[in-house]
This record gives sequence, structure tokens and C-alpha cells, in this order.
Amino acid sequence: MIELRSVSKSFGDRDALNGVTLHVGRNELLSVVGPSGCGKTTMLNVVAGLCYPDEGEVQINNVIVDGWEGRRRIHVRPSKRKVGYVFQNYALFPHMKVQDNVAYGLKAMHLPRSEVEIRTRSILEFVGLLNHSESYPHELSGGEKQRVALARSLVTNPEVLLLDEPLSALDPRSREALRRDFKNLLRELEVTVVYVTHDLTEACSLSDRIAVMDRGRVEQAGHCDQILERPKSRFVAEFLGLNVYDGRVVQDPSGVILIKVGGTEIFGPATENPDGERVLVTLRPEDIVISTEPEVKNQRWCGCTCNSLSGTVLEIVRMKSSARVVVDVGFPVKSELSLSSIRELGLAEGKNVYVQFKAESLSISPVR
Ligand code: ATP
Repeated sequence: MIELRSVSKSFGDRDALNGVTLHVGRNELLSVVGPSGCGKTTMLNVVAGLCYPDEGEVQINNVIVDGWEGRRRIHVRPSKRKVGYVFQNYALFPHMKVQDNVAYGLKAMHLPRSEVEIRTRSILEFVGLLNHSESYPHELSGGEKQRVALARSLVTNPEVLLLDEPLSALDPRSREALRRDFKNLLRELEVTVVYVTHDLTEACSLSDRIAVMDRGRVEQAGHCDQILERPKSRFVAEFLGLNVYDGRVVQDPSGVILIKVGGTEIFGPATENPDGERVLVTLRPEDIVISTEPEVKNQRWCGCTCNSLSGTVLEIVRMKSSARVVVDVGFPVKSELSLSSIRELGLAEGKNVYVQFKAESLSISPVR
């Protein structure tokens, strides 16, 4: 279990952490995402004890490792925290064989040689690298090096494991493979894990719960689905890649709820929000259908209140197996389509199309 309570840390006049409050349950895996410079690494360093917080309290398994007792400052040394740390750039000793890199922490604990050997073998087997025990780091691929780094941080049986963008130095294919490996390996462990990444897909595929950070604060923490459905702020919604608009509720006398975005009125979901209230409107790109005809033909939407907005294709950004299509309907709407759909619809920049989505697909929340 990790508990951060109003933790702040500045470097000169720069606030790296600005009142971070976060709970990670015992043996939970929590992913932390956020843009560069938002304080992710500083937060890990504070938990590891590599960095003193200016304010606030940090607990690991109900023990205060940073904080104050009256006027006395508590700071438990990193080596006493039972924390393992995996860095982005592996940080292996280049002149040591794989087995010696892994055994390093155990030797520092002055354990008997036989125990060091047994534990080293066992953890190398766990990460699938027993046959590389005698290799040197330069003889390994990036993915293998990172598995050595994982083994090295796990061999001392930490209660908390911190991973700081462990896959970011890898090419996309190795990254994908190692992500799957890490997911399986971490699942088997009884350890509390904080996994930092820039990549939202990686975060949501590894853990049920994520924390989104911005400018030294945890903006929102919760289950991926819950955050995607109800982002608390414009920042979180934009970071998640959603369509985000400022809107105004129009409670039509006939009982229909409309949301006014710019000059356009669209059907919205049932809401208690009063007429005229300003709201943050979000819409997931994957909930949108692009059509060349105004009628909504999606069978699954039969009986639902739907929007069909006429617009012009502004931009098509092709990716590996899909494309992001931005359509101007009076405001820009981004959607995600398969490359085959783009071909079938004959989509091109400047083409007139209809943007369709269910009223219920809109999520509205009060402006913060
Ligand atoms: P990235 O994703 O790019 O690694 P991050 O979210 O991990 O970024 P941090 O490395 O925690 O962010 O940095 C947060 C802020 O604190 C940044 O503005 C950074 O420049 C600053 N900072 C971090 N460490 C130091 C330091 N030792 N001295 C001065 N400023 C620092």
C-alpha cells in the first residue's frame, strides 16, 4: 500500500509536485500517465526516498516513510523502504554479467552465497532469462535488458515496485511484446506496483486503475472506463484524446434535451442540469459514425435519439490500421475509422459527410 497525502516538492521556483494525494492499494498495479514534466518521476523518487518532499506525508504499508512527527522530520532511507525501481534506461552495470547484475542487491545484503545463487536463478527463470545468465548487458536486446532490470529490482523481494517508463526505449514491436510479458509477470507478484508511462493505451492495458497527472497534481484517479466516461476536467478529457467542447444546456419545453455547442444545437443525454447551465461536453472518437447519407442506418442505434450533423472533412491522418478523421460541423469532431471504411466511403479532405452519434454518447459535466 502506498499513501501520498498533500505531497509537494519544488526545485527552485518550479513546483514538481503540488499537493499530490494518491492511494495505491496493497498489491494493486496503478498506472500513472501525464505529459512530460508533470511530476511523474519526481513522485516515484519521493516514494523511493531518493527525493525529500517539502511538504506532506508518504506511507508505505501503513508506515510513515516521509513526514513529520511534531517538529521532528521523518525520512526513511531508500535502502530501508523495500522498494524496487526499474528505470527507463535499464541502468545495468555494463561490466557485470546478467547474473551478477541481478545478484548485486542480495550481495549488498550480505546473504550466504548459496542463497544468493538460488534466488538469482529463480528470478532469472521467472523473467525467462536463465539461459542468458552468463551474458553481458551489451549482448542483450533492449527487451532482455529491461527484463534483467526487472529481475534485479525483484530479487530482494520488495513490497513496492516502481517502474518509470520501462518500455519507452524500445522499438514498437519489442515494446508490445514486453508489455504483454510485464503484464503477465506483474500479475503473478504480490507487490504494490506504480507504473509510469506516457502511453494511455499501455496504461489501460496493464492496469485497471490509472492516475492522470498534470502540473504536479493528480487530476483524476480511477478505473480507465470510468475516467474515459466521466473525465473530471478539460485537461483529462483532452489528454485522453476525447472531443471536448464548451456547451450550454437547453431544456426544451417538449422534454428534449439539447446541448448548444457554438451555434449548433445537438441532442444530449438525459440530465438534471438546469436550462442554460454551462457544461463541459465530451464525446469519444470511437462512438462516432461517418456517413455519406443523412439518415442514421446503424441498426444497433434503432430506437435511440441520434444526431446526424452535416460537415466537411478537414483532415485525415492515416495510422497503422486506422485513421483519424476530423470533420468540421461548425466545430471540429475527430473520429477514428478503419482504413477500409475510409476507402468504402471515398473519404477525402473537403468531402461533405454526416457525423452521427447517439445523444447518450455525449458526456456532460459541470465546468470546473
Ligand atoms: P517526463 O515524462 O518528461 O519524464 P515527468 O512527468 O517525469 O516528465 P519530472 O521529471 O518529475 O516530470 O519533472 C517535473 C518538473 O520538475 C519538471 O519541470 C522538471 O524540469 C523539474 N525537475 C525534476 N527534477 C529536477 C531537478 N533535479 N532539478 C530541477 N528541476 C527538476
